[in-house]
Amino acid sequence: MQKLADFIWLNGEVIPFEESRVHILNHSLHYGSGVFEGIRCYETDKGPAVFRLNDHIKRLFRSADVMQMDLRRSLPADLESREKRERDSSTRSSEKSLGMTEAGGNDGWSEAEIVEATLEIVRKNNLAECYIRPLVFYGSKMGLDPAGSEINIMIAAWPWGKYLSKEAVKVKISDFTRIHPKSSVMTAKISGHYANSILASTDAKNNGFDEALLLDYRGNIAEGPGENVFFVKDNQLFTPNKGSILPGITRASIIEIAQRELGMRVKEKDIKSDEIKDFSEAFFVGTAVEVNAIGQINDLKLTGEKEGEVTKKIRELYLDIVHGKVKTYDKWLNLVTEKTLQK
Ligand code: PMP
Repeated sequence: MQKLADFIWLNGEVIPFEESRVHILNHSLHYGSGVFEGIRCYETDKGPAVFRLNDHIKRLFRSADVMQMDLRRSLPADLESREKRERDSSTRSSEKSLGMTEAGGNDGWSEAEIVEATLEIVRKNNLAECYIRPLVFYGSKMGLDPAGSEINIMIAAWPWGKYLSKEAVKVKISDFTRIHPKSSVMTAKISGHYANSILASTDAKNNGFDEALLLDYRGNIAEGPGENVFFVKDNQLFTPNKGSILPGITRASIIEIAQRELGMRVKEKDIKSDEIKDFSEAFFVGTAVEVNAIGQINDLKLTGEKEGEVTKKIRELYLDIVHGKVKTYDKWLNLVTEKTLQK
């Protein structure tokens, strides 16, 4: 695999990118039982800062709880990683685990420790603007029941530019329905959910579109494969109700800043695909995609290849905020250089 960064944080250790391996019989690889986050770090006047890091780590722990992975409690390390830790503990003492006892023992993790570990891996890789991917995953265990498996946590960070490459994307309403909320826990960011996302986005791309838009089981617009969606009408924003969507951290941020900073009304509501023609603009939001205009949905042109005015205003404000240019929202930024935990 292409080397994305120098180091990866794995179970409390900072290890070289090339050494970050898992066994081929890994439970989460086979069954999609991992939970993860996507986070971004941005350059600000005060140095690199991670956007809404505490909220992302909180959601990671909540997702882990949903999958019965108790990160906070003692985690049995598998023999291989324990032996390796013992071997390496003398040479890597300065990089040694946060929240871990001496080699062989593991007290589990607090949210604060994972926040600090996230900042640590950005620092170690000497990154400014980057994408950050924490993943909690089971160990090598076959059979659906993960009971007894070790629980691993890794954090990777690497430079990753714009997720969608066009100013305004062309979107296909997917033939794949978004996962029924009673089929899973849609507020959790579970790896297995992304099979549905991948099917939808691959199908959209194979049909000449840039991205998919999924409907829920009632035929209401739900979300993109990895993004939430907003619509614009008369300087008002509309976004699908919670229920069948991952209620994104960016979605919540956009609702707050549109209301507070732009004085816009924002309405969460059920939206059917035949209502799209009543809107003047549409856009995706999410950590990876940031704010990206949707110019066309199926055959219906909204703003075509261009971004609409309202979308532009919101995108620019969002980018100002993540880059630390709007004082009120410093609360959403964690400076990478500031240690959040005393060791
Ligand atoms: N929906 C889905 C399915 C996603 O994968 C994401 C990306 N995490 C989002 C919405 C947006 O969430 P956030 O703003 O928290 O990144």
